[in-house]
Amino acid sequence: MLYPNDEPLQGKQLRLEQQVFFVSCSLQDMLRIHRGFGGELRHFAGHFAVQLNDTHPAIGVAELMRLLVDEHGMDWEPAWEITRSTFAYTNHTLLPEALEKWPVDLFAGLFPRHMEIIFEINRRFLEEVRERFPGDDERLARMSLIDEQGQRYVRMAHLACVGSHAINGVAELHTRLLKETVLRDFHEMMPQKFSNKTNGVTPRRFMVLSNPGLSRLINGKIGDTWVVKPEGLRRLEKFADDASFRQEWRRVKLGNKHNLARLILERTGIEVDPSSLFDIQVKRIHEYKRQHLNVLHIIALYNRIKQDPSCDICPRTFIFGGKAAPGYFMAKRIIKLINSVGDVVNHDPDVAGRLKVVFFPDFNVKNAKFIYPACDLSEQISTAGKEASGTGNMKFSMNGALTIGTLDGANVEIREEVGAENFFLFGLTAEEVVSLQRNGYHPLEVYHQNQELREVIERISSGHFSNGDPGLFKPLVDSLLFHDTFMLFADFGPYVEAQGQVEAAYRDPERWTRMSILNTARMGKFSSDRAIREYCRDIWKVKPAPVTLD
Ligand SMILES: *Cc1c(COP(=O)(O)O)cnc(C)c1O
Repeated sequence: MLYPNDEPLQGKQLRLEQQVFFVSCSLQDMLRIHRGFGGELRHFAGHFAVQLNDTHPAIGVAELMRLLVDEHGMDWEPAWEITRSTFAYTNHTLLPEALEKWPVDLFAGLFPRHMEIIFEINRRFLEEVRERFPGDDERLARMSLIDEQGQRYVRMAHLACVGSHAINGVAELHTRLLKETVLRDFHEMMPQKFSNKTNGVTPRRFMVLSNPGLSRLINGKIGDTWVVKPEGLRRLEKFADDASFRQEWRRVKLGNKHNLARLILERTGIEVDPSSLFDIQVKRIHEYKRQHLNVLHIIALYNRIKQDPSCDICPRTFIFGGKAAPGYFMAKRIIKLINSVGDVVNHDPDVAGRLKVVFFPDFNVKNAKFIYPACDLSEQISTAGKEASGTGNMKFSMNGALTIGTLDGANVEIREEVGAENFFLFGLTAEEVVSLQRNGYHPLEVYHQNQELREVIERISSGHFSNGDPGLFKPLVDSLLFHDTFMLFADFGPYVEAQGQVEAAYRDPERWTRMSILNTARMGKFSSDRAIREYCRDIWKVKPAPVTLD
């Protein structure tokens, strides 16, 4: 079984062993192939590039040094030159708790030679820091590969930075925050190493394979070259004003919603209405992604119905999907809350089927094929500054979903591309989140000032969704009332307000369809082809191999 590759991680011996195993096999294979073709070791980096996809394979820096120095008898300096030219590092998170750290004792016990090599890399690196910033001992302690405050840890992100010739983030905002926060010292010392590479997704899997109906409709209007040159989707823009095209566009979306409704019935036994607004949040379950903010909005709508069962409310189907890390208690309690709210809302006669809440089990790439194309509203509501990029946001928008979202990760660039008028924005900015937290954020104050929020929380803590047991969701409620690390309360009012704008737009199908078409038409930038071309050009320095077809 592969080590649990997940963010809140516990120092697991198995995980480190597997990292070393996979990395060593890969590097030894590259060296074998290189030498098999008669290549000289000193030219290795001219033939192989190794992109560290997060810090999980960062131990490769020490392993390649070990192979070159110990197994191939090379001197340290040329080996280091080869290593640095070979590796580049992509950072995928700003959450400090998610940056890998290994206790020095565990590390040295399992891999004593790698530990020695890391100490030597560190000794030479700190020499350089001392030369550049004389007398700045605090900087030395901050940049060291070894965290020496209390128990000693190996900092894998620092090893990745020192052992690489290029470092990148995965969205403009993320790269900027990297330079200003977690990798600030490294950026100050070596700014030339840093660049941004905004993520992308492949239109072959996430449009052509997943959404054949939409692909056929598009091909009929603008041909099929967009499949390899998705910037060409812009030619769809002018059809946003064509009423019969809009009608076709709605027919395709409705068909996709019927397909998902069938799958939901099969997997959960819940019947959903394909003519209702499909409001979808699928992604790993995490407090920073704020699935529970979405739930607070559902309960607010439910309360409005309970207070006035005849109120005019746009029928909606809320669909959630995603896995939680096995040891992540709060994430699992959020899943329980979604299911429990669904059990009550789906069966309440006052609701009369106007709201449905579905937790789609076992969300994975296979199920994703039916989910992204069936979406009307894509939920991208992470606390600003916490989501590195997101890629689900891209898959939804390419398939004509509108986004409700914060200024986080790639949402910022998606909104720039599709146009602010075609995106439902709400919430604090990354800067506002930081300054509010610095100046003392008091969720209880927000709670006392917002009656709708109070009534939502009261519904949960009264045991209404837990058969009268107020204890089940107490850990969740208390964490919001007394800490609210991810600022759900601060964003609740603006979120509910933006959801009101969503509802108004959805009630005007022609307007909604126009916005939907413009989303698809303007998402070409987010093709993985563009992202990979940038890695080729800026980091790997490789040219495409010419392909000629008869
Ligand atoms: C795209 C995708 C993700 C990433 O989703 P985000 O919303 O960007 O977190 C996660 N899981 C699966 C199965 C995906 O296809």
